[in-house]
Amino acid sequence: MKRQPTPRLKPRHVPVCEPLLVGCEKEYVNQTLDSNWISSYGSFISDFETSFSTYCDSKHGIAVTNGTAALHLALTALGIGHGDEVIIPDFTMIACAFAVCYTGALPVFVDAQEGTFNIDADKIEAKVTERTKAIMPVHIYGHPCDMSAIRTVAAKYGLLIIEDAAEAHGAVYDGCKSGSLGDIAAFSFFANKLATSGEGGMVVTDDDELAEKCRYYRNLCFPLSGERTYLHNNIGFNYRMSNVIAAIGLAQVQNLDSFVEKRRANHARYKQCLQNMDGLTLQVENPGVKNVYWMNGVVVDTDIFPINRDELMRRLKDLGVETRPFFVGMHRQPALKTYGCACDEEYPVAEMLSKNGLYLPSGSGLTDEDIEYVCQAIEGVSA
Ligand SMILES: *Cc1c(COP(=O)(O)O)cnc(C)c1O
Repeated sequence: MKRQPTPRLKPRHVPVCEPLLVGCEKEYVNQTLDSNWISSYGSFISDFETSFSTYCDSKHGIAVTNGTAALHLALTALGIGHGDEVIIPDFTMIACAFAVCYTGALPVFVDAQEGTFNIDADKIEAKVTERTKAIMPVHIYGHPCDMSAIRTVAAKYGLLIIEDAAEAHGAVYDGCKSGSLGDIAAFSFFANKLATSGEGGMVVTDDDELAEKCRYYRNLCFPLSGERTYLHNNIGFNYRMSNVIAAIGLAQVQNLDSFVEKRRANHARYKQCLQNMDGLTLQVENPGVKNVYWMNGVVVDTDIFPINRDELMRRLKDLGVETRPFFVGMHRQPALKTYGCACDEEYPVAEMLSKNGLYLPSGSGLTDEDIEYVCQAIEGVSA
């Protein structure tokens, strides 16, 4: 195809992802200040927990300080600790591995799958040992994992499933919302996530007993009822969320459906604008799932595309377009090697994604003009 000469672009700044605080955030925060309820007591905590867990088709929500704490709390509630192994994707954010390390257990890595960038479910069984206690599927960039295959392995070996849904608020697998796909799930409300409270997280589960354990460990193992207060039977954590933060979170959940639709619309526009660019592949959406496209991940095929990922990122930056490289695989992390993880095995797909992947501006506040600008910039810098 003959390329049109690229018109000179009028520079604009396109951020990779910014929060969109266009609902009742300010009003609710002011209510907490006016009422003096600014600690972890106050009605916004339970309102946020109820509204978000309901959004996830789950019975319980336990709000915490951040998504990493949510993962740690969920693993603790499942009873995971020293001597146990937890299977996680090699291609993920570091919090997954660290949360496992906090419990004293060993993270075991499984390579990624092309297309979805998620854990390759067909490679999980080979990593199961008699020490394996749980699998942690991570819905990378908003695409739900292959839960059917993961559940089959989990059932065969009696493993628990803890979903890391930090990037997948509102995603759907086989008619069910993310957060309701395993035994327990963790979400993050960091500023760039689909719903945000600035910093924040939540554990979500249908299981009454697990929910109670999470509440107990979240609050330093203060007795939940009955016993002498200030008498502690276990080592707990202070992972409590403040009412001020929960006020922001509640307002965000009220707009979450529109954020999800905006992210999907962003993706549709990118897909349309980039369809003639050979050598760039966007994340897929498998049949039977709803990808919420937290980020628009793109993989550069260096055999076809004229420049490599790093050069593409550099040139886009010069035009005001913010991007981020994909994660570095867990087997490449010095901290995890020192901890004793198996880092010498081969993870070819994770390696390829880490080398050739980047994500494009993806926030809920992007305009159509922003996305067209990004696409024209990509076309311009690679012509
Ligand atoms: C953001 C994220 C987390 C951690 O959440 P924080 O709130 O930043 O602690 C965990 N897992 C994944 C996959 C994430 O993207």
